Amino acid sequence: MLKSIACGKLREEHSGQVVTLAGWVHRRRDHGNLIFIDLRDREGLVQVIFNPEKAPNAHKIVEDVRNEWVLQVTGQVETRPEGTANHELPTGYVEVTAKTAVVLSKSKTPPFYVNEVDDVDELVRLKYRYLDLRRPQMRDMVILRHTVVKFIRDYLDKRDFLEVETPILIKSTPEGARDFLVPSRLYPGKFYALPQSPQQLKQLLMAAGVEKYFQIARCFRDEDPRADRVVEHTQLDLEMSFVEEEDILSLVEDLYTDLVRSIVPEKTVMKPFPRLTYADSMERYGTEKPDLRFGLEMSDISDIANQTEFKVFKSAISNGGIVKAFSAPNCGDYSRRQLDALVDLAKQGGAQGLVWIALKGDQDSLETLAEKQVNSPISRYATLDQIKAISKTAGAQVGDLVLIVAGPITATNVALSLLRTEMGKRLELADPNVLHFAFVVDFPLFEWSDTDGRWDAAHHAFTMPKAEYVGNLESDPGNVIAECYDLVCNGLECASGSIRIHTRELQERVLKVLGYTRDEIEQRFGQLLTAFDYGTPPHGGIAPGLDRLLMLLMDTDNIRDVIVFPKTQSAIDPLFNAPDFVEEEQLNDLRIKVDDGGK
Ligand code: ASP
Repeated sequence: MLKSIACGKLREEHSGQVVTLAGWVHRRRDHGNLIFIDLRDREGLVQVIFNPEKAPNAHKIVEDVRNEWVLQVTGQVETRPEGTANHELPTGYVEVTAKTAVVLSKSKTPPFYVNEVDDVDELVRLKYRYLDLRRPQMRDMVILRHTVVKFIRDYLDKRDFLEVETPILIKSTPEGARDFLVPSRLYPGKFYALPQSPQQLKQLLMAAGVEKYFQIARCFRDEDPRADRVVEHTQLDLEMSFVEEEDILSLVEDLYTDLVRSIVPEKTVMKPFPRLTYADSMERYGTEKPDLRFGLEMSDISDIANQTEFKVFKSAISNGGIVKAFSAPNCGDYSRRQLDALVDLAKQGGAQGLVWIALKGDQDSLETLAEKQVNSPISRYATLDQIKAISKTAGAQVGDLVLIVAGPITATNVALSLLRTEMGKRLELADPNVLHFAFVVDFPLFEWSDTDGRWDAAHHAFTMPKAEYVGNLESDPGNVIAECYDLVCNGLECASGSIRIHTRELQERVLKVLGYTRDEIEQRFGQLLTAFDYGTPPHGGIAPGLDRLLMLLMDTDNIRDVIVFPKTQSAIDPLFNAPDFVEEEQLNDLRIKVDDGGK
């Protein structure tokens, strides 16, 4: 080794020892005679002093040294003199007096300073990711990722799980996204697909008798850019045989609680995780991934709204829509500008508009509310009693602001949920130190796709319908509830899973509802259906997103902050400049002709 100890590991107990260090010049200060260098390696940094009288050669060598040069230094560890200790630094009670120095590698002036926590443009950070990763917060991320994965591996190993690798070059396994395709050279015109997840493979492992499987699996989805999505993500893929929904949920609950408590003990996590049904979650929070760190629950006010003379309410309801509201405490004195900003937000969320009732004053009871205390665009169309009734149903008190959206159910929920999140932020209701996990259960099996004019799988095609709905699969698909569950936390979806279908007969029925023809079923799912013919046990699983978990542990809402070499939001790798054109010859090998769109 070119070093005897890590720079960041030096402490007072090492005083007197002669050590050899190797690392990067984090900072260099020239104090006339003495040169001070903070030498940094993965473990941290330590101050090294070069004294021209004690070590003239070493001093000469570091005269030209600049930030990010790589040095090897041998010197004596000394306790820092009284009053010069740096209490901020773990190594701040010692320094190293250099005897010799060797330049191992030089550096140009870097495009950004590794030793400053500047706001560097993300594209530049990604292009020079290896420099970005030298920064302490990024180094911490790399370490945290390792720690989390190791914890998971150990945890599952102790519980008799087997880690099994599955192939990356397979055939399409539909998970609702577009496949990445890989052309085959040996079989021109044929393609492999990269797995959107190892879903069918892990089910085949259950057919193979593995019983308890996991894998830190890479999943590829050719999706359009979205803030919290990337085209390539990592999940803890997990599957178990002979289980019921409850077995999977309690395993995940224990794993997540133990993991958080042991790796980030400063965060609060509460067990048991609350469970709410999908229907309940949509009704109360307008989303299937609610942030439960705060209330601001929504109420359906359609009945009272329909009694007012307000046309927007009435037409929403007569068109099969809904009027929903929630109350923001102590916001009754919001200015017109603040209200307009909320209206804009509701529109961004797809609502036609936003109606508010600002209840001015404080402390009084709603019963004694006077007309002059009400500021609302619906005052002219609703009686005071109706306003009171709406406010009461929305959970408001005098002094509060009631936010109301009317329209089709989905758009109303999306807009109100955006507003709820925004008000939670403005009112600082979400404790950043709490990880409020919950399970959302009882999802529908199918959802109607307006664009394709057919039923889609709400989770995926392999999910088991609840026994009591199996008879209605074909006659009433929209109301079939699935044995399907999500883990959510602080407004993020952290994991999805389900109990799976394990018989050919039921799987074929579900695939038919999804619009697959007999031939398509055989061609795309034949391998799984055939496995079902040979004694496949009941099984189920889940796939927690590793990147999402890291985002929660690291308090970031940028998924690229937790991936070592991420693509940009527009799916570009700025480091390698991928995707890129390839040689004509490679295309010829693959018998591919690129249509350049007439350019
Ligand atoms: N394969 C699913 C997914 O990637 C998860 C699961 O059902 O286990 O979302």
